[in-house]
Amino acid sequence: MENSARLYAELPRAVSRGQITAHYQPQFDVDSGEIVAVETLARWTHPKFGAVAPSLFIPLAEDLGLIDELGDHMIGLGCDAARDWQRRGRAIEVAVNVSALQLADPDFARRLLRAVEQHQLSPRLLTIEVTESAEIIDVSVVAERLDWLRSVGVTISVDDFGTGHSSVEQVLDLRATELKIDQSLVRDESAAARTLLAAVVTFAHDKGLRVVAEGVETESQLMRVRELRCDRAQGYLLGHPVEKTEIDRMLQAHDR
Ligand code: C2E
Ligand code: MG
Ligand code: MG
Repeated sequence: MENSARLYAELPRAVSRGQITAHYQPQFDVDSGEIVAVETLARWTHPKFGAVAPSLFIPLAEDLGLIDELGDHMIGLGCDAARDWQRRGRAIEVAVNVSALQLADPDFARRLLRAVEQHQLSPRLLTIEVTESAEIIDVSVVAERLDWLRSVGVTISVDDFGTGHSSVEQVLDLRATELKIDQSLVRDESAAARTLLAAVVTFAHDKGLRVVAEGVETESQLMRVRELRCDRAQGYLLGHPVEKTEIDRMLQAHDR
């Protein structure tokens, strides 16, 4: 069987058996330099092919009608981590990626809040990053569901801002409370990109949104992100996506 056909055939079992795991990538407060949050990223290690990229298997899961199951599993893994840190007295926020298809499910918000409740977490510790793998069909309906989540304290983040998919329009339509600037914009050191980025940060702060810069790979990018008054930074320079135990170690090292 061709490799992609094999992945297609094997993903349902990987999902139903909980073989999709999570890596967590730290997010740092730009001013204090402390870890304040992590992003939960799905990982599938295939016995034969090794690590399969989420950019490959998330669309497959959507196609196979498995995204709700996989998404709920990821929300569970995010909540597990947040609860463990909460028990140790650390309020680390956890972001989970949610595709437009998941938001289309009328039951999504209720299941999310049930998971938060079951984990005895404050909804304030949870962020959903809306990723644009498919068109949001009915923005007003989705926005209403997001209103409910936001009203109880969940952060609504628009992921990959600055790419073709995410726009000011989407931020306003979804009444987002966080904006995640895509790595392509963070990396672009041209004067035009800098002007654009400055305008985006001003717009976001005027609207009371938090700004996270993603894909920070160099000291000069970090400096620029700081100068532009982004609130949080995430990227390989500061920390790769890693197993939870590795984040535990980073938190402990910081405490010492
Ligand atoms: P994303 O949500 O924008 O996540 C950021 C991606 O950039 C991650 O790739 C991360 O590993 C990578 N990254 C982080 N820092 C850097 C950096 O400094 N340089 C570079 N070059 N890359 C960096 P990953 O883990 O391969 O995930 C790709 C995409 O797959 C995610 O993009 C997200 O859209 C989607 N995804 C991942 N996990 C899930 C999930 O559980 N559910 C859904 N619906 N989508 C997911
Ligand atoms: Mg994301
Ligand atoms: Mg992104």
